[in-house]
Amino acid sequence: MKIGVPAETRPAETRVAATPETVKKLAARHQVLVQSGAGAAASIPDDAFAAAGATLVGAAEALGAEIVLKVRSPDAAELAQVRPGAVVIGMLNPFDTANIAALAAANVSAFALEAVPRITRAQSMDVLSSQANIAGYKAVLVAANTYQRFMPMLMTAAGTVKAARVLIMGVGVAGLQAIATAKRLGAVIEASDVRPPVKEQVESLGAKFIDVPFLTDEEKEIAQGSGGYARPMPADWMRRQAELVHERARLADIIITTALIPGRKAPVLISEDTVRAMKPGAVIVDLAVEQGGNCPLSVLGETVVRHGVHIVGEPNLACLVAADASALYARNVLDFLKLVLDKDDRLAIDREDEIIKATLVAHAGAALK
Ligand code: NAD
Repeated sequence: MKIGVPAETRPAETRVAATPETVKKLAARHQVLVQSGAGAAASIPDDAFAAAGATLVGAAEALGAEIVLKVRSPDAAELAQVRPGAVVIGMLNPFDTANIAALAAANVSAFALEAVPRITRAQSMDVLSSQANIAGYKAVLVAANTYQRFMPMLMTAAGTVKAARVLIMGVGVAGLQAIATAKRLGAVIEASDVRPPVKEQVESLGAKFIDVPFLTDEEKEIAQGSGGYARPMPADWMRRQAELVHERARLADIIITTALIPGRKAPVLISEDTVRAMKPGAVIVDLAVEQGGNCPLSVLGETVVRHGVHIVGEPNLACLVAADASALYARNVLDFLKLVLDKDDRLAIDREDEIIKATLVAHAGAALK
């Protein structure tokens, strides 16, 4: 089959959907058409793709392949170059109905990798996890860079410096990696989440869990989430969480927020009142900024100072670790590809397969989500 790897066109998108490692595996059985310059922002030169067996081509040829591997969803101009009946695999925004309709109108078979179910068989294809892990790590480094003090406790001849206090809101994949990274830098860490199993994970990383007790069976039931994802908590629980968080935030030097609810606006966890109560020079990194933010003062794509607090609204932190983000993403894509190819390397989409069912968002002219 012809497998195309176009360059990403979105501003600030530095990743690429294949690497020399994955191209080498694919090129043994397929013709791999990589757009010249596709890996440049992730420091992968054309030569490395060519040495792995790719043919370097222009955008039209990469987009015109039978299977197109993308990081972000193709825009209208790109989609116009994708052939009807082709397969498009990427992070296609399954909740963006206009985008899914455009993919359906282009008559492609489109797979949104964000929708991979959280089952053991699909773990190696889970792009949300691979990219969130990187974002959680980078969030701490960006915070440390913005923060005007040390992270670790230091005893020097000029006096003692206190360790930074870091508060992590939302402890999924990104939050856990943020805790681990902040710990390595010597910070003192507290964390909050709605899902009960998180407490043990937080404590095992040497951080303190902010316990917001459940007062009703309904609260307890909603907090379990579904399919590994959180659900919106009742207003009363959110109010009690906000009170506790407000007290902890006043003492915090750095807050990293990662709380997301699939398909919805992110919950507000750090209100303007809480920001006002924080120390001057404190830093908030809001990983949920693209979904409206966990802090209402976050500005998409900007670092702003509000009430003396630096609020970082960088939308796609994984893009700042372009090489490893691409390496992990490309492996996710490679594993997913095995699902849609049969043993003779022909396209075979099994509509009964649980992973296919969850990820196929457009097929044969119909929008499936
Ligand atoms: P996510 O990105 O959807 O959300 C981040 C975190 O925010 C979650 O932990 C969520 O509970 C939390 N959150 C939501 N509302 C909140 C609120 N009001 N206050 C505080 N926290 C709030 O989550 P994620 O990183 O995708 O991971 C969620 C879970 O799924 C993790 O435990 C992860 O280990 C698990 N997971 C399992 C598999 C698998 O089994 N194959 C794969 C990936 C992730």
